Amino acid sequence: MTGLYDSFNRPISYLRISVTDRCNLRCIYCMPEGGVSLVRHEDILTYEEICAVARAAAELGITKIRLTGGEPLVRSGLPHLIRMLSKIDAIDDISLTTNGTLLSHHSAELKSAGLKRLNVSLDTLCSERFKLITRVGDNLDEVLEGIEIAKTVGLNPVKINMVVMAGINDDEVTEFAAKTVEEGWHVRFIEMMPVSHGNVMSRHFVPADEIKKRLEVLGKLEPGPPIVGNGPARYFRFPDATGTVGFITPVSEHFCFQCNRLRLTADGKLLPCLLSHEEIDLKRALRQDMSTEDLKELFEEAVARKPLRHFLAQGHPPPDRPFCRAGG
Ligand code: SAM
Repeated sequence: MTGLYDSFNRPISYLRISVTDRCNLRCIYCMPEGGVSLVRHEDILTYEEICAVARAAAELGITKIRLTGGEPLVRSGLPHLIRMLSKIDAIDDISLTTNGTLLSHHSAELKSAGLKRLNVSLDTLCSERFKLITRVGDNLDEVLEGIEIAKTVGLNPVKINMVVMAGINDDEVTEFAAKTVEEGWHVRFIEMMPVSHGNVMSRHFVPADEIKKRLEVLGKLEPGPPIVGNGPARYFRFPDATGTVGFITPVSEHFCFQCNRLRLTADGKLLPCLLSHEEIDLKRALRQDMSTEDLKELFEEAVARKPLRHFLAQGHPPPDRPFCRAGG
């Protein structure tokens, strides 16, 4: 058996890298209104350090990288990082998760640097609500323009991720789903997790089954083929739609049995699981000039420490590590 496997025989091929804990939005389920305490600039991994980690990971069997944050596009020179990562032979897929606010300016450069595909977090199609949910943004139009430009430059697929909240945006699920028919959008409905600020918001939780039921007014959802990506979504399609409807159910039906990933925080901690307290400090190793072989050993340690299930599935309290630091 080649490649990287954890103690439960799950193949580990995917690394999510948070390039910054800074974000230009303050989404109500993600951050407190005043923001979170930020990592010092000097504690954030440099692009060279991120690439050193990615090279070690690739030698072990990681083939896919997703860049996230915070908001990855607020960190300057992101295309430069993508260019460096795409030179690593074994890495065959580089993707990005973004709130889309800066996308229209950067799509072309991201694509030419080697970015393949994109997830855009978008929770409403209504300007007033966009302001309410993000607490900052008056820029829904910029996000929508960014999505179109990203498609035009050839980023494919562009998936739209919506965190559904009862009484806040749940009345828009049919409008989002209709876009899979009218405009070929790939929409994924995400259950809000009781972590980060999601804890405070838990009364707004909507299970995916309920969302699916509400979409019946648009027609029958048929199981669809998985679209490119390594994610945990279950995909469906309306007859004649070119786009897809996906459901991501970390709460009502966890998908830990197919977990294939590790996460690297902006300050260089390797997380065996988004929702565990465990972290392995790679920054210290990198700054003590450890060799690639030493980094690989730390990586293998993180893989060995991957839990079978995350805390929600085990009834443990959540880690108080904000999503923007861990890279949601
Ligand atoms: N700024 C980028 C963005 O907006 O996509 C990347 C970082 S953001 C933390 C990544 C994803 O985490 C977003 O899709 C966001 O909706 C999701 N997220 C944050 N807090 C969440 C929560 N409590 N439950 C579910 N998803 C959450």
